[in-house]
Amino acid sequence: MNTKYFPLDKTELEKITQRYPTPFYIYDEKAIIENVRRIKAAFSVFPSYKNHFAVKALPNPYILKILAAEGFGADCASYPELLLAEAAGMKGEDIMFTSNETPASEYNYAQKIGAVINLDDFSHIEFLEKKCGLPELISLRYNPGPIKEGNAIIGKPEEAKYGFTREQIVQAYALLKKKGEGTSLPKRFALHTMVASNELSVPYHIETAKMLFELAVEINAKTGVRLEFINLGGGVGIPYKLDQEAVDYNLLACGIQKVYNEIIEGSGLAPISIRTEWGRVVTGPYGWLVARAVHKKEIYRNYIALDACMADLMRPALYGAYHHITIPGKENAPLDETYDVVGSLCENNDKFAIQRKLPKVVTSAEAGNDGDFAVIHDAGAHGRAMGFNYNGKLRCGELLLRTDGSIVQIRRPETPEDYFATLDLSSLKGFESLA
Ligand SMILES: *Cc1c(COP(=O)(O)O)cnc(C)c1O
Repeated sequence: MNTKYFPLDKTELEKITQRYPTPFYIYDEKAIIENVRRIKAAFSVFPSYKNHFAVKALPNPYILKILAAEGFGADCASYPELLLAEAAGMKGEDIMFTSNETPASEYNYAQKIGAVINLDDFSHIEFLEKKCGLPELISLRYNPGPIKEGNAIIGKPEEAKYGFTREQIVQAYALLKKKGEGTSLPKRFALHTMVASNELSVPYHIETAKMLFELAVEINAKTGVRLEFINLGGGVGIPYKLDQEAVDYNLLACGIQKVYNEIIEGSGLAPISIRTEWGRVVTGPYGWLVARAVHKKEIYRNYIALDACMADLMRPALYGAYHHITIPGKENAPLDETYDVVGSLCENNDKFAIQRKLPKVVTSAEAGNDGDFAVIHDAGAHGRAMGFNYNGKLRCGELLLRTDGSIVQIRRPETPEDYFATLDLSSLKGFESLA
């Protein structure tokens, strides 16, 4: 059982919404920093440990700056993500470029800023060499295929489009080592995998580390390559549901250390630096989507409609994901009602919650002015970032609750002008007023 917290009460929310109307995301800076420090403390058993925050989880420069100041690097998969990481002050090898199906221009930029290129496929060795030249340090992404169980979100590794097979990856290190003879590059090598998403099981993640450590030994035995670092990827889960438990970082780090000692120390390959690419677990529980209940509808089911919709948060619609919802001011009220909590998109899967037990909600329509707030929890990762504009829906903005208790807007809500911004309307008759 975990408890869901939200750093503000109803009165504070009322005050904030005078300036920033709902819906909006809000992130808790203090809680994020404390969480980052817990992660670093647990993994300090590995001297040069670094987490490369998966930018896609929360691509806001203010958040990235906070993480950079705490010593985190970034994991990027596109040119704009590289630009964000760089602007946040992350430099060179603090940035992993874990892309797939990558255009040459993006490899070029990653190389230019000294990011670690993490190749996704054997054919990309030649592609990279031809288009950009090989870098000094190169990382390869492993797909274990049928030997590793996947999980619900990412699917089975053997059905996943990412990475090299075991046979390919050993051949690739041999090839790269040969290419790097004499004064040629590469000279330094790293290994990566990403096999799960939102996985709460500590033994599962330890098993992934063990699999990579054993592979490191095999690579060394077959090719003579000594790895400089092993990146365990992302995919550590968060307890979205009340009956789930958060991952114990200490238990996880100690478990990984134990297999490291057995396999890496044991085979004389130490030191190999340990890296992770966590996104969700870093910011997920410390961000919320705050909306207001605007309409109530009673047909075959009872519905509460919010002023946010799946364009702001699509995880429930995309994965059937559970997000806990609380009603500020009614935290301790009995859960007397059962509602589908929905948004305004013309898609019937635009539902934040289905048949959810909640206290009796008062909507703006009923109240004649402002209805109840609805706080959607665990929205701090893969939330606003997955938003979209279907149906002409404008995505909401983002606020940051600073460590001193002040509120800053770190992204404004979209306007119709943003929606039309990519169109050249200046010469299209009738549309001039939208240009
Ligand atoms: C999405 C992703 C991550 C981050 O995953 P989380 O579940 O947010 O920890 C890390 N690495 C890669 C390659 C990814 O695609």
